[in-house]
Amino acid sequence: MATEGHKYIFVLGGVMSGVGKGIAASSMALILQGRGHKVNLIKIDPYLNVDAGTMNPTEHGEVFVLRSGLETDQDMGNYERFLGRDLVPEDYMTSGMVYQSVIARERALEYGGKTVEAIPHVRDEILRRINAAASHNGSNISVIEVGGTVGDFQNALFIEAARVLRLQHPHDVLHVMVTYLPTPGTLGEMKTKPTQSAVRELNSYGVQPDFIVARSSGSMDEKRKEKLAIWCNVRPDRIISAPDVESIYDVPLNFEKDHFGDLLLEALSLPGQAPADMKEWEGFVQRIKNEKDEVKIGIVGKYFDTGDFVLSDAYLSVIEALKFSGAEVGVKPKIEWVNAKDFTRDDGKEVDVSMLSKYDGILVPGGFGETGIEGKLKAIRFARENNIPYFGLCYGMQLMVIEYARNVLGLEGAHTVEINPETKFPIVDVMPEQVSLIAEGKYGGTMRLGVYPAHLAEGTIAREAYGTDVIEERHRHRYEINPEYVQQIKDGGLTFSGTSPDGILMEIAELPRDKHPFYLGTQFHPELQARPLSPHPLFTQFLKAAVAKKAG
Ligand code: GLN
Repeated sequence: MATEGHKYIFVLGGVMSGVGKGIAASSMALILQGRGHKVNLIKIDPYLNVDAGTMNPTEHGEVFVLRSGLETDQDMGNYERFLGRDLVPEDYMTSGMVYQSVIARERALEYGGKTVEAIPHVRDEILRRINAAASHNGSNISVIEVGGTVGDFQNALFIEAARVLRLQHPHDVLHVMVTYLPTPGTLGEMKTKPTQSAVRELNSYGVQPDFIVARSSGSMDEKRKEKLAIWCNVRPDRIISAPDVESIYDVPLNFEKDHFGDLLLEALSLPGQAPADMKEWEGFVQRIKNEKDEVKIGIVGKYFDTGDFVLSDAYLSVIEALKFSGAEVGVKPKIEWVNAKDFTRDDGKEVDVSMLSKYDGILVPGGFGETGIEGKLKAIRFARENNIPYFGLCYGMQLMVIEYARNVLGLEGAHTVEINPETKFPIVDVMPEQVSLIAEGKYGGTMRLGVYPAHLAEGTIAREAYGTDVIEERHRHRYEINPEYVQQIKDGGLTFSGTSPDGILMEIAELPRDKHPFYLGTQFHPELQARPLSPHPLFTQFLKAAVAKKAG
C-alpha cells in the first residue's frame, strides 16, 4: 500500500489540541527540505465537512484557499508559508471527502457486491489519498498531520491507517507524537504524566511513537526526558523539547539545533546529509526580531464576540502577511482589533469614530453578512477623509467602493445586494453564475474560488507595487462590483487599477496618489500568497504608507 522507496512521517497529537502540531509538522518538513529531500505535507481533518469552506472562522479559524480553489484548514496556510510553495488539493483531506469517495464508489458498484466497511475500505481510501499526494508532488518524504488528539473518536481510522502502513513497511514509516508538558502554577514543576497517558492511549491503538515532540512553556530538563524515555519507551535523544518561542518561525531553527533533522533521517535510514541550509530563513527571523519602530494598524472586523484568541485565528494569514512585509520594511506592525459594531448604536445616533486617527493604517479584511457593516463603512470613510492609509481585502474592497458611491458620488443608500437586495444603487451585485447556485442552496465549494489573472493599469499604485502588468491572485467571493456602475465610479475619481482579462470584473480599486497616500482595495485575498521569504507587494506598500503617515 506504500509507494516504493517513499518515506512517511505521521504527526499525531496527544494530551490536548492547539499545541502546535501544524507548526511542528511544517518545521520538520522544512528542515528535511533544507537537506535536499523533496517533502510534501498533508493535513488530515477528521470532521465530516467535505471542505473547510462551510465553517465559521470564529469556530474553526481562517478558511485557507488553495491556488486550485479548494477551501482548506488554516494549517495549510502555515504549510505553504513554511515550505514557500503552493500546495495542491491532494495535500488535504477531511473525513467528509474520504467517505464521499467511498460512498460514490459503492453507488457505482465498484466494490463488486462486497460489504463496504470502515476497515478496510475507508482506511484504504485514506492510504490511497496519501499516496496520490506523494505521486502528484513527486516527493520522497510525506509528512502527514492527523488532526485532533489521540483518543478522539473521529481520527481513529486515520491512526489505524498509520498503524497498518507501519506494519507493512517498518523501515519507511515513522510516528511522531506531539504532546504537552504542563507546569501547573501551584506546583511550579513540569509534569510528564499527561504525556505518559497519551502514549499509552496511542499504544492501545497498536502504535508506538518513534519520537515525542514535547511542547511546554520552558525547556525540558534531563530528568524529565529520562522519565519520558523510560515510561514511553522512546529513546531519550528522540524526545525533542519544544518550549514556547517568541515567533513560530523560530521552531525549525530550534529543531535544527537539536539535530532533529539528523535523527529523522537516521530513523528513516536515509543517507545523512549536511544540515539544512537555513540562512535565508534565519535572516528573516532576525529581521522580525530586530524591528524597533512600530506602526499601529487597526483591523476593523466583526468577529469580536469570542475573545482575542479566536480572533487572531480567523485572520491568521492577514496577520502573517503584515509580519512578512514588516520584516521587509523594517517595522513592527502592531495590530489592534477594532470592533465594527462599536461604531453604531442601536438607537441610530451617530458614534464618534475619531479614535481611529491614532492608527497609521486601517485594514478591513474579508467577511460575509450584515454584522458590523455600517461600522466598517464609517471606518473606511474616516480613513479616506483623513488621509489614513487604507487597505481593503475582498469585502473590505466592496465596502470601500460602496462608501465612495454613497459619500462622494451621492448615491444615497448604495449597497451590496448581499445585504440589501432592494437597494436603489446595487453597487455590489451578485455574480451572474452565482444566482442559480444560491437559489438551489448549493453553498459548498461554489464561490468564485482560487487563482484568477488580473491586468494592472499603467501609472497606478498596484502596478508600481507588483512591478508587472499581469498578476494571479486567489479569490473567494460571490459578489462583484456591478459592471453597470463602473463608468460612473471611475468618472467620480476612483480608479480600477486591476481588472479581469476581459475587463468585466473589477479586481483592484484605488484612489490616485495625489488624492490619498494609500487607499486601495482588492477583490482577491492577497494575504493568501504572502510568504516569509516573499512578502506580498501590496502589504509592503501599505506598511510603507503607514510608516510615512507616522512620520507625518
Ligand atoms: N461577502 C463578499 C462576497 O461574497 C465578500 C467575501 C469575502 O470577503 N471573502 O462577495
